Amino acid sequence: MVSEPSAPLVGVLALQGDFADHEAALQAAGLRTRQVRTAADLRGLHGLVLPGGESTTMLKLLDVDGLWGPLGYALRSGVPVFATCAGMILLAETVENPSQRSYGLLPITVVRNGYGRQYHSGTFPLRSDVLPAGTTGTFIRAPRVAAVGEGCEVLAWRDGDPALVQKGVILAAGFHPELQHGVHPVVARFAGMVRERAGVVVG
Ligand code: GLN
Repeated sequence: MVSEPSAPLVGVLALQGDFADHEAALQAAGLRTRQVRTAADLRGLHGLVLPGGESTTMLKLLDVDGLWGPLGYALRSGVPVFATCAGMILLAETVENPSQRSYGLLPITVVRNGYGRQYHSGTFPLRSDVLPAGTTGTFIRAPRVAAVGEGCEVLAWRDGDPALVQKGVILAAGFHPELQHGVHPVVARFAGMVRERAGVVVG
């Protein structure tokens, strides 16, 4: 699918990590994308994506670029947000192994690299009532969700662990739908959320 000029515009935090893969996945779902590196890049967005990568590095770069505050404002503005892996860590209320700063917008506890190191990375089946049967998730040095608090819905599980959660317009995955072939159902879900709320923009 080629994005129409009138398609909703989604900003992808592009300081570090797999932001280019997110852009390709969103465009395949018919959305327009913009790389976000400065506060000015946030204006007029209909949605925001926090990519996978290294959350500690992202935290440092958010400070260097003075983006921590403006990004926090945009994340709270009511536009749909989609975060994968390191992005999920940036949104979690509590981060362990080790503890680090986060926006705390999702009432979840995440354990960084909670499935072990690279050796334990791979593509695993997901159990879900909202995703099509047979949907899988690619986990790469992924955070394990150790606890989920009030108001946060678990949409998919990897074995006994929550792997996809949503609170209001904030959707977060411990895995990487942007790295899988075709339009992954989780990317399609986010695209639907953005289209539904296309009247809401970051001011
Ligand atoms: N292990 C990374 C972190 O703690 C996340 C890995 C990923 O985003 N694929 O930030």
